[in-house]
Amino acid sequence: MITKFIKRILRRDPMVKHTHAVHGGSPKRIPKKAHRIDPHLLSKNAVKVTQTLQHAGYEAFIVGGAVRDLALGIAPKDFDVATNATPDQVQRLFRKARLIGRRFQIVHVTFFGKGHPEIIEVSTFRALLENAGDHVAESGRILRDNVWGSQGEDAARRDFTVNAMYYDPSTETVLDYHGGMADMQKKTLRMIGDPAKRYREDPVRMLRAIRFAAKTGFTLDADTRAPISKLSTLLEDVPPARLFDEILKLLMSGHSWSAIQGLQEAGLHHGVLPLLDRILDDGEESSEGHQFVKLALANTDQRIQSGKSVSAGFLFATLLWPDLLQNWKANLAKGMANIPALQDAMDETIAAQSSGMTIQRRFESDMREIWSMQPRFEKRVGRYPYRLIESPRFRAGYDFMLLRCATGEQNPALGQWWTDFIAADPSAQEALLASVKNEVGAAVKTATKRRRRRKPKATSATTASPEPTAG
Ligand code: ATP
Ligand code: MG
Repeated sequence: MITKFIKRILRRDPMVKHTHAVHGGSPKRIPKKAHRIDPHLLSKNAVKVTQTLQHAGYEAFIVGGAVRDLALGIAPKDFDVATNATPDQVQRLFRKARLIGRRFQIVHVTFFGKGHPEIIEVSTFRALLENAGDHVAESGRILRDNVWGSQGEDAARRDFTVNAMYYDPSTETVLDYHGGMADMQKKTLRMIGDPAKRYREDPVRMLRAIRFAAKTGFTLDADTRAPISKLSTLLEDVPPARLFDEILKLLMSGHSWSAIQGLQEAGLHHGVLPLLDRILDDGEESSEGHQFVKLALANTDQRIQSGKSVSAGFLFATLLWPDLLQNWKANLAKGMANIPALQDAMDETIAAQSSGMTIQRRFESDMREIWSMQPRFEKRVGRYPYRLIESPRFRAGYDFMLLRCATGEQNPALGQWWTDFIAADPSAQEALLASVKNEVGAAVKTATKRRRRRKPKATSATTASPEPTAG
């Protein structure tokens, strides 16, 4: 007891000496009966982190998107904790704690349970830029010392009012500095401070605004929305890797289609995100490419909303498919053979992207695998189907082919055949292969008959493959 008391006295946090004015004033304390957060939605590990910090004498809260989601009655997908303990002090309290980052260090506390390990991100209250900036030009050390701030400053640095609430699991109280709870009730997404200034500080906040609006179904406050279209070109200065990550989050939000429409409405897609230009500028909504992408995104949203995983490679493979298909057809028209035409089209499609948002290497190889598998689904003879099933990315290629069937770009009967084939036992698989032989035989017969009856006419391809592949 005594040692705990002495420890508490001796613990002189840098922010204790911090004399900067508290921005955002004093917070509103919101009791349980008003915020109605269900404690069952909390991560036990996040609670363990706040408790451990509090028992050691520090302040600690669940913060950010997790509080927003909890107040919406949604189980957050990850938990962030904010504290007045410095990263070093945090690290000393946990067995599996890792310091991340250089200028603004945060701590990842990892818990190993039954499923995946859970990482709780613990960050120290941060000062406002203007307060931390006194010593920016000096050594990193001084900068680091000046980075930490009060909770009020930490709140003012955050983006939206609904993202700036602090929840203390031990008292079940929410600390609300910027009227986040009132905005939650009004279903409004409001930027803290002067929106234009905040977008200039960090243009990615414009994309975050669209993503959260799509995800929560909230309306962007008029003042928060107004500057976006004028400032959209600021996104050009964002490092491509960060832009890519943000777009990926948007596409994987479970509400990608409405987010993309949101981007268009806000005037955010133009030139900045070439991948999205194609989707949005296609003109005719009824065009094959538009329909395919729309269906793919709806399918992705559905998967994510039901807790299934979606690979980024798969997602980008679908977004670029209309382009690829066009290039592939053009190559065939030039007289190239089917497979080389596809390979060449893949190179061309990927090269066209590298000027804008670079598709990261690890996704590129997934995309290529999914695409090159497509003509192989048509080859249903001998050992080919068995070999195809064995390929490591078969499932993704198959799902992709089913999407093509759903838009009618590929023959739905082919999708059904593969669905049956996967589920079948060995003898049923042989029967399915035999049925293809008969199908092909019958098709050849009718074709020859037809040809005999009347003069050959330009045949319209019923399957979507640009050129019927030899069985
Ligand atoms: P989700 O994780 O559901 O996408 P989130 O709100 O938790 O949403 P994170 O990117 O995990 O988003 O960020 C956690 C918190 O950090 C945010 O809620 C916000 O308070 C703050 N934050 C993140 N990015 C920014 C930013 N660019 N500008 C200001 N504050 C930010
Ligand atoms: Mg988060």
